[in-house]
Amino acid sequence: MDQIKYNSTRGGESGISASRAILEGISKDGGLFMPDHFPALDKSLRELADMDYRGVAYEVMKLFLTDYTEEELKNCINSAYDEKFDTPEIAPLVYADGVYYLELFHGRTIAFKDMALSILPHLMTTAAKKNGVTNEIVILTATSGDTGKAAMAGFADVPGTRIIVFYPKGGVSHVQELQMLTQKGDNTYVVGETGNFDDAQTGVKKIFGDRAFADRLAKAGFQLSSANSINIGRLIPQVVYYVYAYTRLLGTHRIMPGEKVNFTVPTGNFGNILAAYFAKRIGIPVNRLICASNDNKVLYDFFQTGTYDRNREFILTTSPSMDILISSNLERLIYLACGEDAEETRKLMAELAETGKYTVTPEMRERMKDFLGGYATQEENAAEIRRLFEATHYLIDTHTGVASCVYHAYRENTGDKTVTVISSTASPYKFASSVMSAIRGDGEKKKDDFALIDEMERVSGVSIPPAIREIRNAEIRHHHTCAPAEMENMVAELLGL
Ligand SMILES: *Cc1c(COP(=O)(O)O)cnc(C)c1O
Repeated sequence: MDQIKYNSTRGGESGISASRAILEGISKDGGLFMPDHFPALDKSLRELADMDYRGVAYEVMKLFLTDYTEEELKNCINSAYDEKFDTPEIAPLVYADGVYYLELFHGRTIAFKDMALSILPHLMTTAAKKNGVTNEIVILTATSGDTGKAAMAGFADVPGTRIIVFYPKGGVSHVQELQMLTQKGDNTYVVGETGNFDDAQTGVKKIFGDRAFADRLAKAGFQLSSANSINIGRLIPQVVYYVYAYTRLLGTHRIMPGEKVNFTVPTGNFGNILAAYFAKRIGIPVNRLICASNDNKVLYDFFQTGTYDRNREFILTTSPSMDILISSNLERLIYLACGEDAEETRKLMAELAETGKYTVTPEMRERMKDFLGGYATQEENAAEIRRLFEATHYLIDTHTGVASCVYHAYRENTGDKTVTVISSTASPYKFASSVMSAIRGDGEKKKDDFALIDEMERVSGVSIPPAIREIRNAEIRHHHTCAPAEMENMVAELLGL
């Protein structure tokens, strides 16, 4: 079989196995791991159309994770995509007003992070076994709300792992905080940190960089790892649902064999849309990849001008998971666009770190022409959520709203009638306050979250998902708080060092 090895985008590591890349997360040189070439699907799209989500997941993931045995990979897939999802389809495709919404929010925390974070713990513990790692793996994460909860839900009670999440106390929504503080699992720890998200992120990075602390951990039988979105163990499982979506359309004759589709993706760290590009590279017929941004439109400007410039005001929006000025996974596209030139990639990333910007060459832009950027303001987003709801009674969240806006504007401007799939990345229940205010059109935000959730159930007719129902009366299990400077001590204390 076609063996895939992984290389760092910055040249410091090469030829490493998938399982090692998953264990390491990020390369020691600060680069991201990339497959040394793109494999090709070895089943026809017709055959894949007859398989369920798990079947498609195996056919896609086996191509990239070539050092996992069939049994290992199938065990990981079966442990991830099971009753944790509230529908056997896992990622249903819903048609509304001329476009397909690929619902990626049927997992435990009702946002698309579940698609990858429900399998990552299994890929990681399998990788540990394969590589003779006997230490217990400690996942350390700083979160601005969604990732921490999804990572905990994935790692809770997975043998051989513990997970510690730091979140900015007072910097997350009420629902997000409750979701974290009620997290079950004897191996989960949540700490409210008294600074902001950047302080938490910086504190975590510092702990990762502390060699002496790593030695202390190793002596006690622990080793740190990360569930960050740059881990290829998160990227590869995301390729699956694009192949799944295409083959559903094919299987129900809504497209012809060989027909191209567009994917529109609400984008933050560039992981989700990059997975769609990977799907194209392994054989899915794709026309355009439409990258949708909110007011933090760094990526729109980049695709428009060839200059990536993070020197701008950071804007807090109603789509917080896309409030990002450094889209880490873009480095992977840059690497491909410069012909896998690690030296060139390293230079551009050093420029970004030093000056906050870089410009790519016309040849590189030519190689990225599958991508097209668009953006939507908060007002446009709210108007789109309301328009779609009034026209079809289909309710979308504020992230999906950005993508829906950008897609309809694209279609209007270009006349492109290509069948299009929009990544729907969160349940509207997760952002009830903004969504309800959008459909009422009154900007009111006074009511408490749970009152709005009840109101949403009444107007939408979609029942409140278990993820929300269970936090209402659940016991608060986590009570730790600490100052940013105390984070390392907190980790030591929680692990009993
Ligand atoms: C994380 C997230 C995004 C952004 O995805 P990226 O892979 O970071 O581009 C969009 N919507 C929601 C709801 C998210 O949680």
